[in-house]
Order: sequence, then C-alpha cells, then structure tokens
Amino acid sequence: RRYLDAIDRRDAQINSFITVTPEQAIAQAQAADAARAKGEAGALCGLPLAHKDIFCSDGIRTSCASKMLDNFIAPYNATVVNKMAAAGAVTLGKTNLDEFAMGSSNETSYYGPVRNPWNPDCVPGGSSGGSAAAVAAGLAPAATGTDTGGSIRQPAALCGLTGLKPTYGRVSRYGMIAFASSLDQGGPMARTAEDCAILLQAMAGFDPADSTSMDLAVPDYRSQLDRDLNGIKIGLPKEYFGEGLDSAIGDAVHAALEEYRKLGAELVEISLPHTELAVPCYYVIAPAEASSNLSRFDGVRYGYRCDNPKDLDDLYTRTREEGFGEEVKRRILVGTYALSAGFYDAYYRKAQQIRRLIKQDFVDAFKQVDFIAGPTTPNPAFGLGEKVSDPVTMYLEDIYTIAVNLAGLPALSMPAGFTGGKPIGLQLIGQDFDEAGLLGAAHRYQ
Ligand code: GLN
Repeated sequence: RRYLDAIDRRDAQINSFITVTPEQAIAQAQAADAARAKGEAGALCGLPLAHKDIFCSDGIRTSCASKMLDNFIAPYNATVVNKMAAAGAVTLGKTNLDEFAMGSSNETSYYGPVRNPWNPDCVPGGSSGGSAAAVAAGLAPAATGTDTGGSIRQPAALCGLTGLKPTYGRVSRYGMIAFASSLDQGGPMARTAEDCAILLQAMAGFDPADSTSMDLAVPDYRSQLDRDLNGIKIGLPKEYFGEGLDSAIGDAVHAALEEYRKLGAELVEISLPHTELAVPCYYVIAPAEASSNLSRFDGVRYGYRCDNPKDLDDLYTRTREEGFGEEVKRRILVGTYALSAGFYDAYYRKAQQIRRLIKQDFVDAFKQVDFIAGPTTPNPAFGLGEKVSDPVTMYLEDIYTIAVNLAGLPALSMPAGFTGGKPIGLQLIGQDFDEAGLLGAAHRYQ
C-alpha cells in the first residue's frame, strides 16, 4: 500500500507506469501473507515489483508503449511474470518504455515521455526508462527490464541503479514481445547487486517454451556474492575511454576502478578493435529482425485496427500507418531494405560477419582478463527533447552497451558517482553465463 500510495502521489509527474494494478497487487499481497503464515513463503514473498510493459501479463493490458497494442490484453503470462509470481512477488503494474523498446530515452512511448527522478528536465534513459524511474523514485523496490542494445544498463546508469543484462539464453523470452530476437534478453533492475541477484534467481532458468533458452543449472547467486577480488584481472578497453566520453564520467569510472585495484584486482589495458563497428552492425541486424517480428501487427489478429478498411491492403496499410510511431516505422523501413533481394549481401550478411568479429574481440579479451570494465554511457542523463530530432546521436547513446548484445554476453551497470547531480554508471562485462561473477564483483564494490 505504501508503494501504491507513492505511485498515486508522484507518478503523475514522472509517468513511469502505463498501467497500475492495485487490486491485483493487494490480492497477491494477501496471498503472500497467507503463504507465509503456512510456512510456504517463496523467495520473493510479498515483494512489490513492477514489470516493463513488454512482458505479457494475463488479463492485464500489455501495450509495449504502442498505439498498436493500446487495447491488447494478453491471454497468458510471460515466463518471467509467471516465475516471479510463483516466487511470491506482488505486481504493482506495468512500466513505461520506448515504443516496442526502440529508443534510448523513453521518448518514443505512445504514453508520453518518462522524467528522470534525479532531474525532471532530463530523460531516464531507455528503453526500460519507466522501470528505472519507478525504482529510482521509490515507487517500486525493483523492476524487470529488457535489453536488446543497452535498455537495462543505460537507464540503470542514468537513474543511479544496478541493472543486469544476463547472458543470451539465461532468461526465457517467452511472452516477452519480440524486438530483435537474437539480441533481446530480460533482466533485473534494482538498487544493488544483491537485489539483482535475488531477482535473477527467480527469473533465470531453462524454459522449454523458448527454444533459445539454455538448459543449464542456475547457480545460487546470493550465496556467491562475497567474492575475493584478489588477483582477478579487469580489462579496460582503450576504445571505451576515447573521444566522445564525457570527462566527468571518465574520471568517475577511473576512480571506481581504482577502488577495485585497492580490493586486489589488477587493471589491464585491452583492445576491442571492432568497437566502432558495433553501432552500425546493430542498426542493420536489430531493424532487420524487428521488421520481421513486427509484421504480425497487421490489424487482423489483435491490437489496433483502422476504421472502415476498403480492402485487405488498405487494412494492413492504414493499420500500420496509424498504429506505429515514427521510430518504429523508421526501423521497419531500414530492416526491410537491408533484407531485400539485391541488398541482403551488402547489408545483412555483412552485418552478420561483423557480428562474428565483435564476438571474437571478446573471446580474445577474455583469454587475458576475468572481467571487462568501462563507462555504461558516454554522457549523463540528457535533456528531454534534446536528441529526438537526431536519430544517429540517439543511437550513439548505446555505443558501450551494444557490442555486448551482439556477443550475447552478460553485463551490468552499477552506480559510480555523480556529475552535476546526475548519476554515473560503471559497466562490468562478464564471460558467458558468469552472472554470479559479475554480481559478486559489483557487490564487493557496493
Ligand atoms: N537504444 C537501443 C535501440 O534503440 C537499444 C534498445 C534496447 O535495448 N531495447 O535499439
């Protein structure tokens, strides 16, 4: 009730929720009390939680922040939603995001932008901007997010939170509305690495309903938080500290890394030579996959349908013209172009080849080091409206986060100070399925 009250009082200004579900929250909280009384409390028993409105939730609107799904009530729960409910979590509601998770500022949402609780004139980051702002403003103790190119880590950085993108395949994508299927991964957003460990425990694991989910045992993350960092090697990619990085962020990240050195870690300069190709590579692959995934929104089966279609073509055309926002249309056009006969080899195949080189950079780096560290973002939270008219500047927001998705690796962002009253994020990148190592390394610093 305290969180529901806080949402009532403060969210008109922040706009972090698209849908608040007080009746459901109170019913789930009462069920949690009953389970606890019977000695059957799950790991998240009674924990209030907000879900990014990209996770399907049975009987509750799942909009993906699009006019296209403004009226869509999912007939089933995403696996993540089911697992967290089974662990006893209490869902407060569904959080705002960039439309179909396409963006870095939460400004492409059909439901309006989200404000950064640290500075209401600034964006919270995106696309999981509603989740980040809700937790930062104290409207929820924790939230789920998804990360296709940085959408958990970048808003976590801009809002002063810890957010983890797990290894591709660690968390089921079933019921998570697809943006770019080979890159999308759900994960936790909370204040600390310890909180993220508890949340990831409930989210992770094999799911037969997601053919890309990995059939691997899930370690006990919380019991592995106390890590000895003596002798571990942290690689600092020289490409992540060059031109374009805000100097206050560079200084704060170096100061945090100096703390790691004092904890016994060795800092090693490394190179990820294909870094500059990550953004262009992503902006071929992600739109290509999106153009295919979003073809299901045709006005026939579910979601928005235009009024009085003349014929089937008119139904498709006007439904999509009226239902999708500008950024989503831009991605569909770019993706369709990249996949079209005659351009496929020049764009899509080339991007896949570059993706392999980017992955190989990390494979080579992890022969020398245990973790890779650097800034999460090149700049702190920027002004609302500042980058909306320039998509390329907006795309560069994810310059340090995108390569991780192309390589499928786990990575987290955690708070590492402030500049001008705005939070700064430190990014730690780990080896495949070493979420435990990442969370431990972050916990030690925190
Ligand atoms: N900002 C990136 C994009 O717009 C990443 C978004 C995401 O991770 N969902 O595609």
